[in-house]
Amino acid sequence: AQKRYASLRNLPATTLCGTTISLHMNAGLMADLPSLEGSGADGVGLFRTELQFLIRSKMPQRAELAALYARVMDAAKGKRVAFRTLDIGSDKVLPYMKPPEEPNPAMGWRAVRVGLDKPGVLRMQLQALIRAAKGRPLTVMFPLITEMSEFQQARAHVLRELHREKSLGHPVPEKIEIGAMMETPSLAFAPKAFFELTDFISVGGNDLKQFFFAADRENELVRRRYDTLNLSFLSFLEQIVARCAETGTPLSFCGEDAGRPIEALALAAIGFRSLSMRPASVGPVKALLRRVDLTEARKVIDRARAEGAESARPLLMDWLATLDS
Ligand code: PEP
Ligand code: MG
Repeated sequence: AQKRYASLRNLPATTLCGTTISLHMNAGLMADLPSLEGSGADGVGLFRTELQFLIRSKMPQRAELAALYARVMDAAKGKRVAFRTLDIGSDKVLPYMKPPEEPNPAMGWRAVRVGLDKPGVLRMQLQALIRAAKGRPLTVMFPLITEMSEFQQARAHVLRELHREKSLGHPVPEKIEIGAMMETPSLAFAPKAFFELTDFISVGGNDLKQFFFAADRENELVRRRYDTLNLSFLSFLEQIVARCAETGTPLSFCGEDAGRPIEALALAAIGFRSLSMRPASVGPVKALLRRVDLTEARKVIDRARAEGAESARPLLMDWLATLDS
């Protein structure tokens, strides 16, 4: 199988109907970067910066981080890397930062909420990213943005640090893209001004699904209870696609589901044109996308909905089986 995928490495994920889906990989450590070439991914759609914080026994310093980020960008050889700012709290606890006692950490003080309330570490991280990028493009995205004002504040931090670096006479990035991760349902209904302001949106499907279905992603009792291909969820994702289309906001999906071939197919069928996944999934997802017509897949999803099905999965599976025969 590995060989089969290797032969696809330099081919695009173009469907039978001629639509090309860009496939990116998720990463978080230097050790992940060689996979960028091996997998044939177009870039890093999600770089989980907290992993480098999690493997240390003390808080990293700015210079150390800047050197690390520069090495990540060097290793990406000009391919885009979307650096997701520190996403701690809930399932990700730093050994050197005592977490507050919280009754429900997944819905608690985590991700960008920590960064906005106590901006010291966020600012240090932004400075490191800006320094690392010097002269190159920089892409930054913020986790768990829940309402527009949080994005405005987070974005203002980037612009302030950029201004500061400039006034200190340091070289700055060639350009900066500032995006939001859509991980809570509320953001899908944010004012149009939010969709206009953000440079891109990346759907964090793991969290978005957890909050959509009120089912803890860490809880074995419920985490597999609801199907990603549940038509309520697909309808919701379609609304996100439509809102981004209205403002021309670039949209991608970076949760684990993007790396599951049938889920990836459904996402492409409802309008996602960019997916980010673990490196090993790029081959299998590309192999399936190259065999299908998205217009047909979309019809299958619509038929499942018209028939009152709960999930599009059974009909999609039946349809895929006919492609093999
Ligand atoms: C997500 O929530 O889908 C996501 C990509 O981020 P993480 O899994 O790191 O929370
Ligand atoms: Mg998340």
